[in-house]
Amino acid sequence: MNASSDLQATLDPSRKSWVESANNPTGDFSIQNLPFGIFSDGLNATRRVGVAIGDSIVDLAALESAGLLSVPSTGAGDSVFVRDALNDFIALGRDAWRSVRVQLSRLLSRDDATLRDDAELRGRALIRQADAQLHLPVQIPGYTDFYSSKEHATNVGSMFRDPKNALLPNWSEMPIGYNGRASSVVVSGTPVRRPNGQLKLPDQERPVFGACRKLDIELETGFVIGAGNALGEPVTCADAEAHIFGMVLLNDWSARDIQQWEYVPLGPFNAKTFATTISPWIVTLDALEPFRVAQPAQDPQPLAYLRHDGEHAFDITLEVTLRPQQAKEASTITRTNFKHMYWTMAQQLAHHTVSGCNTRVGDLMGSGTISGPTEDSFGSLLELTWNGKKPLELREGGTRSFIEDGDELTLAGWCQGEGYRVGFGVCAGEILPALK
Ligand code: MN
Repeated sequence: MNASSDLQATLDPSRKSWVESANNPTGDFSIQNLPFGIFSDGLNATRRVGVAIGDSIVDLAALESAGLLSVPSTGAGDSVFVRDALNDFIALGRDAWRSVRVQLSRLLSRDDATLRDDAELRGRALIRQADAQLHLPVQIPGYTDFYSSKEHATNVGSMFRDPKNALLPNWSEMPIGYNGRASSVVVSGTPVRRPNGQLKLPDQERPVFGACRKLDIELETGFVIGAGNALGEPVTCADAEAHIFGMVLLNDWSARDIQQWEYVPLGPFNAKTFATTISPWIVTLDALEPFRVAQPAQDPQPLAYLRHDGEHAFDITLEVTLRPQQAKEASTITRTNFKHMYWTMAQQLAHHTVSGCNTRVGDLMGSGTISGPTEDSFGSLLELTWNGKKPLELREGGTRSFIEDGDELTLAGWCQGEGYRVGFGVCAGEILPALK
């Protein structure tokens, strides 16, 4: 066995775990997944690195101190797994991520007795997710958001400008993006307060100050930089995926009324900076490999620095639910797929760095709102309700044009394999009333 066949074995669809909940064919956290996160629990408030498996979390620090898991360490007695963020582990590089994945896949597989039959260690190293708290998985030096769904850009362009020229000429030539705000990225479950800001009402000459009336989601994924690049040294399109640690679900909360007034000429500012929610588990590109598919055909052919051979999209089913405060059941408001995205993650990173811009371990890159081709697959309420003109019906009655106070919005996503899933868990947030 060599490193590459060991890695290939972690993707074997027939591999099962002795953690029985991991073998549920519609569960997110199969033994093929093994996503990384940061957790603590009631017995141990120390934040540390964990990997989700079924309904549980494996404590990597506990496995390491028991001598079952080894990684190149930063120094004697200093574990990269006893950290409040994944950055130090990620910075060890792709060989280290892969080595840990291979070791964990073996330790958790049904045929391996080492941990399976050690009740004492299992008691310490396996924590039920229901008993744990999940934290922001990475310290994020920078956050960038792209605008790479052709359907989304076309819908927004039709609504805000001109349906005949919905796409601006630059859109088809490069992955359009802007520098977002890293300080307000929060982990799933963090309540989000409705922002106040300047609103320009159509019948008034000057703006008023007040609570956002058109609060929205943006259904996105994000990728996390695993290997940065030095200032002045662009990442090529061909090398780009080697710089990516993994992916999360991302909700780019958006205040549409604030956005529409402020965005000219420099793009969104307060409309987006109040909060961005991400899911707590980072699914590695290694785990996503079996779900690689072709990206949409690109016309015109991109400039040379944006060209890559092969398949660079991923088949990830995505859905969003909305649950009003008093409702028992959530309503599904959209379902779509990441594979529709026009620009790939590799092209986004190549374009981001082509000027010489550096990136750092933990940087977060949002995909842009992911809208599919049909009206029930759009990635924002702005599009689903066509700027409030066609309100959505909710399961327990009532309608929504935009988000109301107390609503909980939940993004979910998964790749469906043969008898197993590689899932992202959820990315949820409840809206609190604006400050008076
Ligand atoms: Mn966005």
